[in-house]
Amino acid sequence: MKIAVCPGSFDPVTLGHIDIIERAAALFDKVIVVVMANSSKKSLFSVEERVNLIKRCFNREDIEVDTYGGLLVDYVKEKNAVAIVKGLRAMSDFDYEFQQALTNKSLLPQAETVFLAAKGKNMFLSSSMVKEVCSLNGDISRFVPEMILNDVVKRCKGEKS
Ligand code: ADP
Repeated sequence: MKIAVCPGSFDPVTLGHIDIIERAAALFDKVIVVVMANSSKKSLFSVEERVNLIKRCFNREDIEVDTYGGLLVDYVKEKNAVAIVKGLRAMSDFDYEFQQALTNKSLLPQAETVFLAAKGKNMFLSSSMVKEVCSLNGDISRFVPEMILNDVVKRCKGEKS
């Protein structure tokens, strides 16, 4: 069974992430979406909340959601995954992602990093953009999955969900 890992902060998950995860699921037997808990970035949702938001977006056995606080390659090895799948939006993503891919390759040569190009309509979409637009009362319904929209709106506007 070929397993791929889709890592990220997903704070919160957007339609751009969903697209990459579903396209990865079409290429591999199983995809594990991993909310990385070691980011220094201040987050809007806790790791557990982010995991739950992602779980609510999928109802299929070949997509699992998990969390990890250590080194990504250790997780990939532990799960026997063959690939790390990442989305690329623009050249601005490239330098950082390429550096990460090279580092991961030298730490765990048997795992490949696979880059999927973002769809045109998602090129500008990021979790931080969603949070900023929503906190200023903008409409984010085109950017996040419908089933989690209310929770994201409530939290961005400062209410407890
Ligand atoms: P963000 O950069 O929005 O904080 P994450 O760190 O959670 O996102 O990103 C997880 C993965 O999803 C990364 O590989 C990132 O490049 C990818 N990704 C994020 N937003 C998009 C998008 N709009 N389209 C395609 N891929 C995306």
